[in-house]
Amino acid sequence: MQFIDLKAQQQLIRQKIEDNIKKVLDHGRYIMGPEIGELEEKLAAYVGSKHAMGCASGTDALMLALLALEIGPGDAVFTSPFTFFATGEVIALLGATPVFVDIDPVTFNLDPALLASAIAAVQERGDLEPRVIMPVDLFGLPADYDAINRIADEHNLAVVEDAAQAMGGEYQGKMACALGKLGCTSFFPAKPLGGYGDGGMVFCDDDDLDRVLRSLRVHGQGEDKYDNVRLGINGRLDTMQAAVLLAKLELLPGEMKARQEVAARYAELIAASGAALTAPTVPSGYASAWAQYSVMAESQTARGEFLERLKAAGIPSAIYYPKPLHLQTAFAYLGHQAGDFPLSESAGERVFSLPMHPYLAAGDQEKVVAALAGK
Ligand SMILES: *Cc1c(COP(=O)(O)O)cnc(C)c1O
Repeated sequence: MQFIDLKAQQQLIRQKIEDNIKKVLDHGRYIMGPEIGELEEKLAAYVGSKHAMGCASGTDALMLALLALEIGPGDAVFTSPFTFFATGEVIALLGATPVFVDIDPVTFNLDPALLASAIAAVQERGDLEPRVIMPVDLFGLPADYDAINRIADEHNLAVVEDAAQAMGGEYQGKMACALGKLGCTSFFPAKPLGGYGDGGMVFCDDDDLDRVLRSLRVHGQGEDKYDNVRLGINGRLDTMQAAVLLAKLELLPGEMKARQEVAARYAELIAASGAALTAPTVPSGYASAWAQYSVMAESQTARGEFLERLKAAGIPSAIYYPKPLHLQTAFAYLGHQAGDFPLSESAGERVFSLPMHPYLAAGDQEKVVAALAGK
């Protein structure tokens, strides 16, 4: 059993992938070839955003979004500590300060109820200027954007959506990646829409921001190649990756449906198994992209036992994320300690992820849950 089965997917579209790659070999435009614009157009339409800009990774997508907003030293960016390292990393790399806000223990996403006091605390201290809220759509489930955008508007902050795991997710009739001022996703192979290498995309409706993003992607380019009007990066998406992604994009809507079915089946099996586990909750009006199917044990010890049972049955599992960002060595300079964000810490101790992909057979899911239940 695979944790994420990329081979089953490839079998369905192998010919299409080879045809698309052959086209790139024939035209030879490996950098910014026509596949980039085609993918950007199709994905903008899919998520319902005016603009989409391909870039080199999800990390670069986040960094380019913050660069476009001119975030730097003295700026506060509010984000969740229960996420992949890159979310906080890009903030700090630009010289801005990550200000962590604890999570909702049910959705694992940034808790909007804690945002106002976090913003007030920064304002009171007076050394940083609140600029951006960067919620993460963890495991593919969008954060609560109605509440977050309302607070952002009140305080004149921009919302940058970290939708690296959430392509295909939905929130109140809108698609993930289109839920803030800027949306950022990743095409890392294991993500819901993954290429065969690194890649990412930034989405927005704002013409000016899109123009700046496209300049930042190529070293702050101005009118032509040798005119540089700002500091940027080499952040382009490869034509080859766009060619692969165009083939995979055709499967995405069907795969999203299949993921919902796999998730529903897990929930039923877990409920019937009697295992002391909390299955994920998807609030009404939301759809998860199910990048991960993450369950929660009652304690760290109990999680260890579940992981042992899976291992003994030869079933792969993973822990996302064992160490919240505020306790990472790289962020020691922020001066946090254990206990500062108790819900993120507790999730880090108790959450683990089961095999999850659109091609997961019902029989395999039964094996997973039987192993969890110790049967
Ligand atoms: C994967 C991921 C990223 C980074 O994406 P890369 O393409 O690997 O650079 C950022 N944030 C979150 C939440 C992620 O899961």
